[in-house]
Amino acid sequence: MQTIKKGDVVGFSFILTNQDGEILDQSYPGEPLMYLHGAENIVPGLEKEMENMEIGQSKKVQVVPEEAYGLFDDTLLFQVPRMNFPPDAVLEAGMQFQSEDENGIMNIVVKEVKEDVVHVDANHPLAGETLNFDVTVESIRAATPQELIHKHVHQHGHDH
Ligand code: ZN
Repeated sequence: MQTIKKGDVVGFSFILTNQDGEILDQSYPGEPLMYLHGAENIVPGLEKEMENMEIGQSKKVQVVPEEAYGLFDDTLLFQVPRMNFPPDAVLEAGMQFQSEDENGIMNIVVKEVKEDVVHVDANHPLAGETLNFDVTVESIRAATPQELIHKHVHQHGHDH
């Protein structure tokens, strides 16, 4: 029986819930999520548990924040002067925007808007969350040389 190993392209269906049992994400029926095993395409705690699974096999995997999107980091809460935003920008709590610095692109969520400052949070939305994956392996195939070089799956006409 073929089992998942480094360098395989794996298709799996999943339901992702948080500790309160709320569904955070799930694959569409008949449309498994494809990833390249061993290339850190998925969170480390889940990738580790996928190793050696077989087609048709299901598993419940609990992933602690350290093995998912990290712990909540208070140092990623910022107060940005209101004047740093465009004067005509309408700002309200819950808005998301992207900020780019030397570390790459950060997704930032507006938490609170005050007269002079805007409180923002640059943590990943799932930081600090223990994640519960209910996964079923749908397909396993060897990656192409190009996929291995690119460290991701090529499908649906994705090409370079
Ligand atoms: Zn590619």
